[in-house]
Amino acid sequence: MEIVRNADLSRLTTLKVGGRADILAFPEKEEDVRDLILMSRERDVPIFILGGGSNTVFGDVRGVVLSLKNLREMEIKPFREGLLVRVGAGSPLSDLISLSVKENLEGIYRLIGFPATVGGAVSMNAGAFGVEMKDFLISVTFMDWEGKVHRVEAKELDFGYRRSPFPEKGVVLSCEVFLRKSERPILGKLNKIKELRKRTQPINMPTSGSTFKNPYPKYAGELLEKVGMKGYRVGSIAFSDLHANFLVNLGGGRFEEVVRIVKEAKRRVFEEFGIRLEEEVRIVEDSGSDGWKVL
Ligand SMILES: Cc1cc2nc3c(=O)[nH]c(=O)nc-3n(C[C@H](O)[C@H](O)[C@H](O)COP(=O)(O)OP(=O)(O)OC[C@H]3O[C@@H](n4cnc5c(N)ncnc54)[C@H](O)[C@@H]3O)c2cc1C
Repeated sequence: MEIVRNADLSRLTTLKVGGRADILAFPEKEEDVRDLILMSRERDVPIFILGGGSNTVFGDVRGVVLSLKNLREMEIKPFREGLLVRVGAGSPLSDLISLSVKENLEGIYRLIGFPATVGGAVSMNAGAFGVEMKDFLISVTFMDWEGKVHRVEAKELDFGYRRSPFPEKGVVLSCEVFLRKSERPILGKLNKIKELRKRTQPINMPTSGSTFKNPYPKYAGELLEKVGMKGYRVGSIAFSDLHANFLVNLGGGRFEEVVRIVKEAKRRVFEEFGIRLEEEVRIVEDSGSDGWKVL
């Protein structure tokens, strides 16, 4: 298993902002994950589970960052009117979307356009255009913080809007999804979504996607635009001109700038509308002084 000490974290997130981690590890198999969990507990240092880094911004992590990108696998079986797919947590979500294009499968193609891993999409219950990851899940296999592996039916897990029991319950290792055959061709619909994202989101820049959750029935982007945050800049970090809820890195952006701009956005929205925006993006930093915990 590859282990890097004093690792630069900026290349591991899509916003390309980052401090350093004491230890960055790339487990290859279940036992590696267990070893790292038990080691971080024993040494009393924090641990952070990383997928594609498309919803994460790092400061310095005085602990272990565990990247699951090597836990990839895909096993496909015909099942009822579709396919049952067992997929590793580190597999790109786009592998499932490519499969859905090849086999003309319903629904999951709507999640095109963000560089998530399957584990990150389960943990965030990622969603777009009327579907969420939980809609396709049959079961989740995870390792708890004692190192024990469990397979749980998805219906027994509490998923919500951009919320799941993970990583609090443990590290998602793999999951099973059911993808139903579609009666009508999906490719045209998928291309429309791709075009819409291209027009309305800064997908060609380093970005971490939506910064805040929508305080439904309001939309975070609209509130941010009304308080002048669209295009607002702190150093090299800005809210995009295309989408007021997307942070972009204009080049060399720093963690402190992310923290400042997020604070300013929350302050303005609260003062203007009395609404406390809640971060969707995971802003991760730890001095390690509080002992073992899951970041
Ligand atoms: C251009 C762009 C567009 C986006 N559009 C959308 C959108 O439409 N809808 C949407 O929902 N999101 C969107 N996002 C945000 C992001 O892609 C999703 O939240 C995605 O699910 C994060 O996956 P990841 O693998 O990158 O997770 P990471 O950023 O690596 O991690 C996110 C969280 O999941 C946890 N985690 C990751 N893997 C595991 C695991 N195996 N076990 C337990 N916990 C784990 C991490 O600890 C962290 O808390 C967008 C992002 C970008 C950059």
